[in-house]
Amino acid sequence: MVRRAVAVELEVTRELNKLLYSVESAYLGIVREVVEYAVTNNVTNPTQLHRLFYSKYRQEYPSLNSQLVIQAIRQASEIAKSFIEKKRRGLVSKPYPEVRSVSIRFTEIAWNYRQFTGSIAPVRIAISPISTGKRGRASKKLEIWLKPHRRFWQYWWKVLTGEAELASTLIVKRRLNRWYAVFIFELKPREEKPQSVVAFDINENTVAVGKIDIKTTVSKVTDWNRQYVTPELYMIRTDFGKLARRYGAIRNKIIDRLKPGFVLPNGNYVNVTNTREYRKCVKRLREGIRKVSRVRQVANELTKTPAVIITEELGDNPQESMINEIKGNETRHRIKQTPFKAVEKAVEDKALERGSKLFHVSAYRNSRVCPMHFVKLERTDDWHMLQCSLGHYVHRDYASILNMAWKTTLEAWTKGVWWDLKREKMNWKVREGDSNPIIPYSIVQYLWYVLMIFTASFEQSPAMLARGAPMNPAGGANEGWGRAPPTPS
Ligand SMILES: [Zn+2]
Repeated sequence: MVRRAVAVELEVTRELNKLLYSVESAYLGIVREVVEYAVTNNVTNPTQLHRLFYSKYRQEYPSLNSQLVIQAIRQASEIAKSFIEKKRRGLVSKPYPEVRSVSIRFTEIAWNYRQFTGSIAPVRIAISPISTGKRGRASKKLEIWLKPHRRFWQYWWKVLTGEAELASTLIVKRRLNRWYAVFIFELKPREEKPQSVVAFDINENTVAVGKIDIKTTVSKVTDWNRQYVTPELYMIRTDFGKLARRYGAIRNKIIDRLKPGFVLPNGNYVNVTNTREYRKCVKRLREGIRKVSRVRQVANELTKTPAVIITEELGDNPQESMINEIKGNETRHRIKQTPFKAVEKAVEDKALERGSKLFHVSAYRNSRVCPMHFVKLERTDDWHMLQCSLGHYVHRDYASILNMAWKTTLEAWTKGVWWDLKREKMNWKVREGDSNPIIPYSIVQYLWYVLMIFTASFEQSPAMLARGAPMNPAGGANEGWGRAPPTPS
């Protein structure tokens, strides 16, 4: 299930604003206290926390809709859980989490969900944050106008056509002085026939892509020019590393500029990065926003047509394993800034929405084996270039994506990846996990066929993978090898 959150600003009068603020502060108070208790006493079960706190807060905040009390406790349980998990993994040092802001959750009965979804073009919500009855049963309905925008209508149209559903929980959230209703749309994944096989690999400054179109049947292909069925290899520039480096330099400049203002009497400096001024300056750089938009761009490009998408299984912390190979502080920092997981997540998300299927293969030896000859690749002076023991050169990233593609075909699995390079025993464990059946057999067959032809044609032009030009057709992702269309032989 794909979820999309759409925030729509609310038209809030002065009185309503005041009321929402007071509801928010009560809600935040509950979340904070319960989180603190949950973390200190290691009690995160929502039912248990409910039993401990519900009546306490009903008494403390008699006018708050009881539904909100329930939700606040539940939210606290979630925050506590994730905090304890992070702590377990050594990612936090604070004793308990600082809850700075909350999103107020209205369940189906605390807002006019039924009425809202029954409407063709809803422009108002009615929420019930305040209770008037003795036991919180009767509640006052507050009608609020929305300021709907294009994106909201796009998703609403999907609701009307049955492609999406509106989740019953509504979130009300404040950012600075504005209030938003956050609607959660659940999109139904599309079922589509894959049109291509796409393998991709995320690197510091690029995403390497290998694409094979499935427009033709295997029998047809045999009559055609062999060049036509070779995988199309290209790079999408992301420059995450460069971006990180550039922003790093700017950040250092900001620190230098602010430093004189933070001298302690003994002549030392306060750690400038902890100051409000510094955070303000950094925020203005919008580094995060730029990164996110590039991540989205990549996801869009890879999922344009319904495809079988193949990528490496990234561990929990792909950066760390990469860093172990690399020395030098600056490079380490850049790798850390490369949003591997974010790209993968975005692709996965988009893939589901557009009817593609994502398939993970192990990262094992992806850039160490020649994808044509299945022998070990040696390093060269250029980190990006590897040399096959048969003489030719291979670009590391292309080797990697072709090997990924090979891994989906069972025969090659033993041939290419489990080749007894160092007389190691086959590590069958790596092979388990979510294995092949996701990819229809006919596609596996097709892929295998294309790769075989590719291997065969490679014998005739052994330097192909090493030449820069054909891999990076001028700006065009769809040029293939930049050659004339096939002619029947
Ligand atoms: Zn080779």
